[in-house]
Amino acid sequence: MEYVKGKPYFSDVEDKIKSYPYLDKNISCDCLVVGGGIDGAITAYYLAENNIDTILIDKYRLGFMNTSCATALLEYQLDDHANDLTKFFTKEELVDVYRIGLKALADIEDIIKKLGNYCNYQKCDALVFSLKSSEAKQLKREYISRKENGFDVAYFDKMNNPYPFALESAILSKGGGAHFNPYLFEKELIENIDKKIKIYENTEAVSIKKCKNKFIVTTQYGIEIMCNNIVCTTGYNTNNFSKDKLCDKYVSYTIVSKPLKEKLWKDGALLQDNSNPYHYLRLSYDNRLIIGGEDVLFKGKVIKDKVASKKYKMLREFAIELFPNLKDIDFEYEFCGIFATTSNNLSIIGEDSKVENLYYNLGYGANGIIYSIYGAQNLVRLIKKQKTSKSLPLFSMTRKLP
Ligand SMILES: Cc1cc2nc3c(=O)[nH]c(=O)nc-3n(C[C@H](O)[C@H](O)[C@H](O)COP(=O)(O)OP(=O)(O)OC[C@H]3O[C@@H](n4cnc5c(N)ncnc54)[C@H](O)[C@@H]3O)c2cc1C
Repeated sequence: MEYVKGKPYFSDVEDKIKSYPYLDKNISCDCLVVGGGIDGAITAYYLAENNIDTILIDKYRLGFMNTSCATALLEYQLDDHANDLTKFFTKEELVDVYRIGLKALADIEDIIKKLGNYCNYQKCDALVFSLKSSEAKQLKREYISRKENGFDVAYFDKMNNPYPFALESAILSKGGGAHFNPYLFEKELIENIDKKIKIYENTEAVSIKKCKNKFIVTTQYGIEIMCNNIVCTTGYNTNNFSKDKLCDKYVSYTIVSKPLKEKLWKDGALLQDNSNPYHYLRLSYDNRLIIGGEDVLFKGKVIKDKVASKKYKMLREFAIELFPNLKDIDFEYEFCGIFATTSNNLSIIGEDSKVENLYYNLGYGANGIIYSIYGAQNLVRLIKKQKTSKSLPLFSMTRKLP
């Protein structure tokens, strides 16, 4: 199955993640993390910090799959608005979900402060906006609901619009966002823990058996890893672990401009429009415009080049609609990857419904990275048999989804 296409901007850096050997002899550990993208790196980081004897394996190289093309808008607000999520959450649950996002944002900042900012991290506000007057009521309702629940938000319409494009309505979440280079963040985590845990690349888990209380995971070369716990962080590739359908898969497209002379919008907030399919925009540390979206359902096994070219063109046209002076600017990168969604917008985190001590931290949805932080913290507690967050069942693979 093909998961990434084009030239991802984020992994096109000189200083790549160090390479690690493949596994060539049988080995054992307390916890095996399968999948070395950003979700696996975050999980392994928290396991290592908690002195859990851990091995991390990846079937290819670390960070080169969907991590390399995740646009990394880090924010607490979800893709859907509060009113559209009432069939999944009570009001209190939704507020808790927003708070989980804000806490994860603060935790990412703490990690950056501790390890040093080598991943182009920048804190910012987050704006959701609409270009259609017909959506103003919907956004106003969302604004009021967030305001009433104590979130720091502002509302804009065309009368007080501080942005240089013609929005009809918008909600600004103050301090509700951040962005970084996800590949470099993974590099920072991995190179910080690689003395505490064992890491193997080119090592694929092809079968998993449970024998009494131990798992035996066999690699493509017939080597065995014996462990007490497994965390699956394989992204969209979960067939070896569960036969359940855990997400809907889309292809999400991204283009990245050359560095621009001037900031396109002053506050550098993360931008997301309210249309369907949606668009999201952010600036990079070196003032490039990164614009993504135009998602289409992924059918079959291959990302189609013809559709991708059309989508890159549509993204460019949308960018020019917002910022007409971009018409002569080159877009240096075009790429796309598989993006998974779930109907309640949340990732899959927790223990397998049938197999004890088999866990998932699958960063599905637009807040995948944020929830992967929350997931890793809770998986450490599950493995240590400690009390977990009361909201964790909302993320479970067995949650009831209509
Ligand atoms: C286009 C796009 C935009 C996104 N934008 C955002 C965003 O703005 N904000 C946000 O928070 N999140 C975003 N996400 C989601 C977020 O990035 C995900 O959390 C992340 O991409 C998935 O990371 P991952 O580590 O699970 O996946 P991957 O990077 O794909 O890592 C999975 C790894 O598992 C390995 N693997 C698979 N099977 C096996 C096996 N059997 N044995 C060993 N290794 C195996 C693969 O080789 C791979 O390296 C976006 C994702 C995409 C694709």
